[in-house]
Amino acid sequence: MNRLVLATRNRHKIEEIKTILGDLPLEILTLNDFPDCPPLLEDGLTLEENSLKKALAVHRYTKLPSLADDSGLEVFYLNGRPGVRSARYAGENTTDDQNNEKLLKEMRGVAPRRRGAQFRAVLTLVGEGFREATEGACRGRLGESPRGTNGFGYDPIFLPEGFGGTYAELTSEEKNRISHRARALERMREVLNKRAGR
Ligand code: IMP
Repeated sequence: MNRLVLATRNRHKIEEIKTILGDLPLEILTLNDFPDCPPLLEDGLTLEENSLKKALAVHRYTKLPSLADDSGLEVFYLNGRPGVRSARYAGENTTDDQNNEKLLKEMRGVAPRRRGAQFRAVLTLVGEGFREATEGACRGRLGESPRGTNGFGYDPIFLPEGFGGTYAELTSEEKNRISHRARALERMREVLNKRAGR
């Protein structure tokens, strides 16, 4: 295996994944290299299901090994919401700011000790005759208001454990050392290492 397609057009995910896996002997393509690939359906009930669906669909279309990331923010007070619905929490075609606003509004007045949350990423690799999945999580809590301008999505309102600030206040190097996606990618790296060059 010497090429891999990332089953996403999300430029932030692409940047993070390419940075973290950049040292592997693999050419990393993305869906931007396949502009006619039909839109990926994310109608599963779990991150695992959506991640597998995306990897399978892109593998079928491109005939290349495909790596999908499905990720989300799980707030314990809200029984894991927004979770699998993170991208569309405030509705279809809404912005990250609108999702953050909706979540902060729901959590208004909830004490800091009850604002625990985690980001989770499920990665699935699908190729001819093989399927592998890895997971990574990062624990922390929800802030009271947005802080920081780096990153994307819920980054400005998520405070990872052990840091004074939000994901959006970390540099990309710092986020890529501790994030849910980085942890899932480190596990996937072992799988890719075994397959690279084969
Ligand atoms: P999906 O995996 O394409 O379904 O979308 C994941 C959604 O979860 C994104 O649109 C973001 O709202 C959120 N998300 C996933 N990873 C991150 C992250 O690293 N930072 C902030 N938000 C994230």
